[in-house]
Amino acid sequence: MQTPRELHFGTEIILRAEQLAGHSDDPDGLTVAYLTRAHQTAGAEIAGWMIGAGMQVRIDAVGNVIGRYAGRQPDAPVLMAGSHFDTVRHGGRFDGRLGILAPIVVAQHLHERGERLPFHLDVVAIAEEEGLRFRTSFLGSSALTGQFDFGWLDQPDAEGVTLRAAMCAAGLPGTEEAIAACALDSRRLLGYLEVHIEQGPVLLERGLPLGVVTSIAGSVRQRVVVTGVASHAGTTPMPMRRDALVAAAQMVLAVQRRCADPRDAAKSLVGTVGMIGVPEGAANVVPGRCEFSLDVRAADDATRDAAVADLEAEFAAIAARCGVQVRCEQTMRVPCATCSPPLMRRLAECIEAAGLPVFALASGAGHDAMMMTRITDVAMLFVRCGHGGISHNPLETMSADDADLAARVLLDFLRRTAAQVGG
Ligand SMILES: [Zn+2]
Repeated sequence: MQTPRELHFGTEIILRAEQLAGHSDDPDGLTVAYLTRAHQTAGAEIAGWMIGAGMQVRIDAVGNVIGRYAGRQPDAPVLMAGSHFDTVRHGGRFDGRLGILAPIVVAQHLHERGERLPFHLDVVAIAEEEGLRFRTSFLGSSALTGQFDFGWLDQPDAEGVTLRAAMCAAGLPGTEEAIAACALDSRRLLGYLEVHIEQGPVLLERGLPLGVVTSIAGSVRQRVVVTGVASHAGTTPMPMRRDALVAAAQMVLAVQRRCADPRDAAKSLVGTVGMIGVPEGAANVVPGRCEFSLDVRAADDATRDAAVADLEAEFAAIAARCGVQVRCEQTMRVPCATCSPPLMRRLAECIEAAGLPVFALASGAGHDAMMMTRITDVAMLFVRCGHGGISHNPLETMSADDADLAARVLLDFLRRTAAQVGG
């Protein structure tokens, strides 16, 4: 017996994702960087939806929006469900947001039916995951897990605004004490569940709407700075140049070569240079400095770390040949994270009960869930990504039917968890 409301979870999710995409830093594509105006109005919209779903809302010191659909008892344990609402530049409208909207519409359904759970359902809209504005990543979930690096506070964005100043401008305290107080009490947590668009083509190619995530690949990220000598483009003979960009270009090719090694293909090794720049470069100046980003991931830490070590050695050799200097600064290191087997089994039961085959897969993309594994049991539900599996792109898409199935599985998961908790 289904109420009409229940039939429309998917449509409701798609509509809200479209509405949320109306908040953007850039009119030409969905861009929501940490603590910008669009970021703050998006957070406020989410808070409003949480209140509409019968939740009490609080915003913590880093801007995470946390809605509680209160359990029957005030001292009940807590099940968390959530994901992030910031985006990459010109990102998709479901990345992160699906994991916020699905539990909100499910909570609203419970609220409308007057159905209470023996635990608090805390839906967390995580303020920052993508690291677009500051050289941080998992900022929101770092605060939730007590892993926030206070050194980040003095880091400037591209405009020279420090993280601390950005927080204060957004009305957040910006103090270490307040940020430390964001840490959740792990003793009260039953677990953390993240529903996320797959961001890849695996489910699509197999014709499956949903998948259970087994583990999440951890990334190592570096900022690589190559220093040569800036000199006149017209008067410096080619053999006498110390061109930082020419050296960096060879390093980029080295990343491609090393990470495409077929011996590491089974370990899902991937390496990417996503940003490269010549600060204060000019058409008539030989580049004296070049900076680029490096991101390396694999299904296990050892494979990844071996590739990073090889690359650092290769970069040093290239720098020596080109007469330049190279410095690699690690900006992020996240270990691979494993999902909880009992929670994976419960998710699988829900998928089976929905009449779907159970399919398990690893995640090559990092997610807030991997931070949460440090304090609680984690499960992740992947939802099929349309358009060939493209994500971090305006073409990212998902069907209302798939969103609907994800929400139903989530609802079933809550009820099965309730049966386990009892009370
Ligand atoms: Zn995401």
